[in-house]
Amino acid sequence: MALPQDFGENVFNDQVQKETLPSEVYKALRATIEAGKQLDVSIAGTVASAMKKWAVSKGATHYTHWFQPLTGLTAEKHDSFIEPEGDRAIMRLSGKSLTVGEADASSFPSGGSRVTYMARGYTAWDPTSPAFVKEGTLYIPTVFVSYTGETLDKKSPLLRSMNAIDKQAKRILALFDIRCKKVATTVGPEQEYFLIDEDEYLKRKDLRLTGRTLFGAPVSRGQELEDHYFGVLRPRIVEFMHDLDKELWSYGIYSKTKHNEVAPAQHEMAPVFNTANISVDTNMLTMEIMKKVAQRHHLACLLHEKPFEGINGSGKHNNWSMSTDGGLNLLDPGPNPESNTLFKLVLTAVIKAVDEYQGILRASVASAGNDHRLGANEAPPAIISVYLGDQLGAIVDSIVKGVDYVPVEVAEGSIGVPESPIFPKDATDRNRTSPFAFTGNKFEFRMPGSQANVADANIVLNTIVADAFAQFADELEKANDVKKGADKIISRELKAHYRIIFNLDGYGPGWEEEAAKRGLLNNKNTADAVPVCFEEGNIDVFVRQGVYTREEAIARADIQLENYSKTINIEALTMLEMVKRDIIPAVSDYVAELCTNVAAKQAVNEALPCTGEKKTITTLATLNDEVSSLAEKLEDLLSAADMKDIAACSRTMAHKVVPMMREIRTRVDKMETLTSSDYWPYPSYFDLLYSVN
Ligand code: ADP
Ligand code: MG
Repeated sequence: MALPQDFGENVFNDQVQKETLPSEVYKALRATIEAGKQLDVSIAGTVASAMKKWAVSKGATHYTHWFQPLTGLTAEKHDSFIEPEGDRAIMRLSGKSLTVGEADASSFPSGGSRVTYMARGYTAWDPTSPAFVKEGTLYIPTVFVSYTGETLDKKSPLLRSMNAIDKQAKRILALFDIRCKKVATTVGPEQEYFLIDEDEYLKRKDLRLTGRTLFGAPVSRGQELEDHYFGVLRPRIVEFMHDLDKELWSYGIYSKTKHNEVAPAQHEMAPVFNTANISVDTNMLTMEIMKKVAQRHHLACLLHEKPFEGINGSGKHNNWSMSTDGGLNLLDPGPNPESNTLFKLVLTAVIKAVDEYQGILRASVASAGNDHRLGANEAPPAIISVYLGDQLGAIVDSIVKGVDYVPVEVAEGSIGVPESPIFPKDATDRNRTSPFAFTGNKFEFRMPGSQANVADANIVLNTIVADAFAQFADELEKANDVKKGADKIISRELKAHYRIIFNLDGYGPGWEEEAAKRGLLNNKNTADAVPVCFEEGNIDVFVRQGVYTREEAIARADIQLENYSKTINIEALTMLEMVKRDIIPAVSDYVAELCTNVAAKQAVNEALPCTGEKKTITTLATLNDEVSSLAEKLEDLLSAADMKDIAACSRTMAHKVVPMMREIRTRVDKMETLTSSDYWPYPSYFDLLYSVN
């Protein structure tokens, strides 16, 4: 691959569109992409045929509508371009095949929003995200809706939420005499992942079936030396990353930064930010490509939020902002934020939105996997708070307390080496513990899980901020003096939502208590976090902004709870299978061997010492017995769980099944440390985490 010319070689991007489409068709398509104009369907035929021609020149024989159903994954169904014409075959993609497809919706989760007799679902082209060729197939990004128009995917509500921001932000901008065609939300998702050797991976049923280790005693060297973060990349990892970059670049994905993360075997890839829906699409593609490239290198890429206990899990920091087509970033504070009314108003809208709707924002990142991170004494706590940094923190404080703002000295930093240039210190320090941090000209939402589709978080962010904008615009459009009116709103709303601002250590002792005093929510698991989505006010905001109907809002929360229960159920069943068929028999065999050894020793000479063996025998036999009876209890819990009562079932999973699994795990991990490695049926944490050179 030669750069930069081969960048995006597999993408039907702007440049290719320009080269292959008649100019009026090209202009009409760009108007849809850039200014959000409704697609002129009469151009579809021409676009389709140009797209097909280009795709065929890239070796494609098939096309697929590519969508994001509520499974959390992507879905595709390939059709070939081949069509009969007379007695020969031609390659064809019609305008209709490009724009609409039909998929049997009954096999995808719908949360009851689709009645079974209307099992028809439709995919519809999303021209704002470019099509691409992958492995001989043309991928056409689409939305997925039911016969009656209910959304069945994550993409359509995302697009609707982006429209809501566009509409409401433009009202605010107009008040400040700023005209633009479009306000887009921008997203840069930083992707964390683990890489381990594929041979070791294949020996672990838990990793293969659930994505995480259900057992594993801690290894003597975890992350305490803090030597892995930004550490030198090992040769196999370098080769993987090199290959990954090349592949991502060929799909037009701006993979920018790569480094080792905190935990052993953990890494990160950060792309350059893009329009929200494109970032979501490319992140889904990135995760898929990571797994595939890993396989080529005989590695397994783990995207689960908590593959290993005792070391850090993985997240996906969602950097988020809003920007006009003229390039104005609405979260750019400029040189004098204290007197930048528009910026302060936008900031206030975000703070208000995050405080008022902290429940649904928290729920948007809730999943069985992410429960292991949030609230588990690890990267961001389950409590949502906003970090502003010194400078903005001081501005907001001065407004709330009604005192003059004393500028925070943005001191010139120096690295203390005379040859090195002096660099200005960042106005925002880094606070790695904050779940929602202002980082210079964007907010970084750090709660999303590493395997999540970030559409979920961005749908909520866009919707709630659009709603705050709408309220401000309603008020300001009636005001005589916009500046005075804005100052009034800023002061009133910052006072009302001051409790959400927290500039200190989110892991520190006392924060939970302090947050409770402030009335902030602290929902530690999915079963407790998601039900807030059924509250009237939380449904209303989606309805008001045209993102979900009432039914859709409820259906989505139901599906989330159902996915959660199903995931825990699979984990519990996998645990039972491993315990009953592999672990208990292995320990029992080892105990038997120890017993034989003791008996043999004593037969020779009763005075030969065997206290150690006897102690181990007792401990292992006792633990093995306990595990066996706990496994029975777990089985009983699972069979008693009523999968039909979605909310109740998720609570059983969170409050009974998960703790029971913990009881089993603790004992099994203890047994692992006492059992000869010759007998232990699975690769250890050492084998898994230190398997790649
Ligand atoms: P760090 O997290 O180390 O501070 P950066 O600040 O460079 O790193 O950026 C992190 C991510 O934020 C990158 O993906 C970057 O492209 C993205 N980003 C930068 N500016 C914006 C913006 N205006 N909107 C959304 N994402 C952005
Ligand atoms: Mg970051």
